[in-house]
Amino acid sequence: MKEVATHCPYCALQCGMMLRERPSGIEVGPRDFPTNRGGLCQKGWTAAELLDHPERLATPLIGGREATWDEAYSLIVEKILDIQRRNSKDGIAVFGGGGLTNEKVYSLGKFARVALGTRYIDYNGRFCMSSAAAASTRAFGLDRGMPFPLADLAHADTLMLIGANVVETMPPFARYLTEQRRGGGTQIVVDPRATATARNATLHLQPTPGTDLALALGLLHIAVAEGLVDRSYVDGRTTGWEAVKAGVAGYWPARVERITGIPVSDLEFTARALKRGKAIILTARGAEQHSKGVDTVSAFINLALALGLPGTPGCGFGTLTGQGNGQGGREHGQKADQLPGYRRIDDPAARAHMAKVWGIEADEIPGPGVSAYEMLDLLGTHIKALLVFGSNPVVSAPNARHIERKLRSLDFLVVCDFVLSETAALADVVLPVAQWAEEDGTMTNLEGRVIRRRALRKPPPGIGTDLAVLAELGARLSQGNTGVRFDSAPHIVFEELRRATAGGVADYAGVTWERVDAEDGVFWPCPSADRAGTPRLFETSFPTPDGRARMIPVEHRPVAEEVDAEFPLYLTTGRVLSQYQSGAQTRRILPDEVFVEMHPDLASRLGFAEGTPVRVISRRGEILAPARLSAAIRPDTVFAPFHYPGVNTLTSPALDPTSRMPEFKVCAVRLEQA
Ligand code: SF4
Repeated sequence: MKEVATHCPYCALQCGMMLRERPSGIEVGPRDFPTNRGGLCQKGWTAAELLDHPERLATPLIGGREATWDEAYSLIVEKILDIQRRNSKDGIAVFGGGGLTNEKVYSLGKFARVALGTRYIDYNGRFCMSSAAAASTRAFGLDRGMPFPLADLAHADTLMLIGANVVETMPPFARYLTEQRRGGGTQIVVDPRATATARNATLHLQPTPGTDLALALGLLHIAVAEGLVDRSYVDGRTTGWEAVKAGVAGYWPARVERITGIPVSDLEFTARALKRGKAIILTARGAEQHSKGVDTVSAFINLALALGLPGTPGCGFGTLTGQGNGQGGREHGQKADQLPGYRRIDDPAARAHMAKVWGIEADEIPGPGVSAYEMLDLLGTHIKALLVFGSNPVVSAPNARHIERKLRSLDFLVVCDFVLSETAALADVVLPVAQWAEEDGTMTNLEGRVIRRRALRKPPPGIGTDLAVLAELGARLSQGNTGVRFDSAPHIVFEELRRATAGGVADYAGVTWERVDAEDGVFWPCPSADRAGTPRLFETSFPTPDGRARMIPVEHRPVAEEVDAEFPLYLTTGRVLSQYQSGAQTRRILPDEVFVEMHPDLASRLGFAEGTPVRVISRRGEILAPARLSAAIRPDTVFAPFHYPGVNTLTSPALDPTSRMPEFKVCAVRLEQA
């Protein structure tokens, strides 16, 4: 029997697991890793079922017919060169994913900039973490979702979760919440729905969708009024306090109650609880996937800084990552504005550094592109061909019907996947690639811990790997440029990644696969092999020019699409326990169906019962879904899980002005009898 210690292929908790090859098939077993301590959710337990799934692709497809790899590569290169000749190098775009390994993310960014010479590359993580990343970077000078280990949560006196339903989305995470409550801690959960996480909390705050920003401003107003601000921390470790203090003066409790619907007494309880002992504030997609997501996270960071939390032992502020490599996926160069090591692509020093690593001139590196939704919106006009790796935008992009039309308008679409996802079904060429248990690599979990994914077996015959695809296409497209090299071996790519990130914000120079194996992962930054990683950040200073965190004044503003007489209800989207992201993997293992959750009072007003087929209609699209009645949701709001085709035809493409994050979490809809 062969077995390896590895990690779950799905979410950012990256639970440790054992994989065993038995005569009866591949079996998942528990593994005592520091984050999940043996626990797995149903997605993890069933992850191996996809490895030998009958719907798995076995050969490349050209126009739907089976083809050889050489035919597929030749056609891709011919089309790329032709489109580049007839348009420009920016006529080709690349779309990546937050589930790809660090090695793949790095190679994808290099492939786009060096082999294709295009500025158009972005990825589906823009839909998840970009608002948290932008707010953390502008405040702290660095974006690592959790700047402290998960284990710290269990010891907090007060824990505040805003827009996070970890009990359902990451069940093994819940043990930290349970431990914290059992230790006498106070837990406050902010969510428009009484989720399993909210129901377990000491206090559930149930705001009107799109009003978390006002909530944060109101809490800081109370902290100022009641003398809860840590003046010595604010004076010694931050800048910008006076403007922020002046900015919250207008958010008195009664006004915030009117905006958010949260009673004044609950606002006061929350502000006071955050000042008692050790406190930690965590935001997630519920607060971030808005057209004001960056300002919302900034408002909670301001609150945390005013209370003296970031960098204080046992306290802190963090943002929860969702996708498997949501953290590493945003560090190594698949974002439109970024080079590896979390460097900016418009920084001359960063360009010079990367040009040296890549063996090209700095002025050969293209400039910044545009964000994921904006890039998809250019398909068929500026962009004629798209290469997709590890993503399924037909299901996961907002305003999805429009995006599907855009994909259909391309001259040429290539998708690398292991099943025929909804996006792959539209492709001119589909390349079948290995799954997580068939290749080595590294991921960076939600704590910033670099971990090792280990292969249990080789890919089946005829199946490639993402790295091999990039290496082969890179070699064919870079002919004549002998200084440029694309490797398909993940450990060699990781060595190049170490050199590339050296000196950057996300510095992996001291991380080796051997260290990761020996130390249960290594926390970045880790600038040299003789230095330990950094589990806790900001203990003595922030990585800003003056070493202080920056407090940024922000203002509440309405959602991009308010309810009105025609579309009188808020729609909010989110996840369910059984599914991961666009569901391309999990829907094939744990088939279940879309539903629309609504309050019984709303259902009775509209004449719906449990299971009634309902049309959910927005300005962009509509879906048919059975009604699911639950008193856990506000009567003015309905909920639908986004894992299923169609749900994102409803959602709004309104973008945050800074992060370019779409407003997935709220749009206006109406319900009709089917
Ligand atoms: Fe753990 Fe997430 Fe995998 Fe579930 S999906 S087993 S929580 S890593």
